[in-house]
Amino acid sequence: STVIHWFRRDLRLMDNTALHHAAKDGVQVVPVYVLSEWKSHHGWTGPGRQQFLCGCLESLSKNLESLGSRLILRCGRADEELEKLIRETEAKAVYFNRDYDPYGREMEKKVQEVCRRIGIECHSYKDRVLHEADEVLTGSGGQYRVYTPYSRNWLGLDKTATQGKLGSLGTAPSEKVKSLPLPTLEHWQLPENTAHLPAPGERAARERMKTFIENRTLHSYAQKRNIPAGTTTSRLGQDLRFGLISIRELFSRCQSAAAQATTADARTSIETYIKELAWREFYLAILWHYPTVFDEEFAPEFRGMPWPGSDEHFLAWSQGRTGFPIVDAGMRELLATGFMHNRVRMIVSMFLTKDLHCHWRLGESFFMQHLLDGENASNNGGWQWSAGTGADAAPYFRIQNPWTQTKSYDPEGTYIRTWVPELKGVSPEKFLAPPKDNRAIAPGYPLPMVDHSTERDRTLAIFAKHRGK
Ligand code: FAD
Repeated sequence: STVIHWFRRDLRLMDNTALHHAAKDGVQVVPVYVLSEWKSHHGWTGPGRQQFLCGCLESLSKNLESLGSRLILRCGRADEELEKLIRETEAKAVYFNRDYDPYGREMEKKVQEVCRRIGIECHSYKDRVLHEADEVLTGSGGQYRVYTPYSRNWLGLDKTATQGKLGSLGTAPSEKVKSLPLPTLEHWQLPENTAHLPAPGERAARERMKTFIENRTLHSYAQKRNIPAGTTTSRLGQDLRFGLISIRELFSRCQSAAAQATTADARTSIETYIKELAWREFYLAILWHYPTVFDEEFAPEFRGMPWPGSDEHFLAWSQGRTGFPIVDAGMRELLATGFMHNRVRMIVSMFLTKDLHCHWRLGESFFMQHLLDGENASNNGGWQWSAGTGADAAPYFRIQNPWTQTKSYDPEGTYIRTWVPELKGVSPEKFLAPPKDNRAIAPGYPLPMVDHSTERDRTLAIFAKHRGK
């Protein structure tokens, strides 16, 4: 019989759980992707990520063709488009991999309702994660609110193996089944993308995964991951975001690398890396159990707190013109590439919320518009962590100092000089403290827009006052 595979954040053929089941159960699989129909502006995505998506769809379409199949593209609400497709193809079942953010969950329910109404089967699978939220619970069946005990439990659970080879998808959908052309940014009426993006698609992502493991960046991850200059981390965020690689395959490759590692440093590095994969699932679990983190602070005591930052300050931050070299370097890396190193994400987010007192939601949305790996759960988790309002064991008064952070993680100014061209010829010690003579450290480069210790005190006062209420 004919069955439908609904592609979502699983834009690959290798080790794709729902697709494998569809291929096993159906004689013909109709692969479909439903494009969103918003136009010109979206608070949670932007030209970089949408362009990357276009490239991924193009590569998926080619890969499906090489199997003798054809990707069907539709545009609109997934439940409505799938209903039309079910009727056109007389499909007997719909297959998809589960998503965990509130919008994705709502859409899944609607698709399930459509299938129920028409009277066909609907199969959904765990695929994006090693463990879904309800698999990792406390001894009494409760939800974790803090990472460390969550990760201990997560690490101890058995992990699913990768699937074997993908079976046949059968013949391509008949010509009567119409498909939209592959999209470009025009589809959303978005301006041209100006960021320099990594290559999209499954093959390029697999190459990145293999290079990370084989070139041994993985083996020095624990020692180097906090250094923003050069390639010290996997750069697989966007590939996990779009499901270009399978989390099970990544995990099992890490395990093989650990089994073959010859030094304790390498083994520690691999363990550290796997714990980062657990962070991703921790935040997905937080969003699953507490979907209101989208609208309000995770920590109840900080709900309704004032964030008196100005539009002007937010603009300077977003353009990388704050006069704090490490902050400006991070923001310019983001604008230029759609990526920002994790350490710098922490620095710039803490700076926006605790030095400029702007609401974390402004930064959260800006990141979603620019990050290729923009992922609601991790991004919200990261922002609330930095703002001091999130699922975190550390207290709100842990406020990082951008100058001492620079000294610890970019002492030679290599990262700063890569991203802030005005500072290329400036000696690195000038990046470690505000200029004493109050003169610009380079022509055209602004003075620090605020004094860190004054703003730190102000933040502490705002938090303390609100808590005391
Ligand atoms: P690596 O260090 O190689 O880590 C491997 C993978 O583990 C990542 O690709 C990611 O999937 C996961 N991971 C690592 N650290 C974290 C973390 N702290 N939280 C959740 N997952 C993690 N990550 C996103 O995937 N999407 C986001 O939108 C996002 N927004 C963030 C916003 C802020 C304010 C902060 C502080 C962090 C954010 N992160 C986000 C987490 C982290 O910065 C990125 O996952 C990481 O920088 C991606 O680069 P990488 O693949 O080289 O990471």
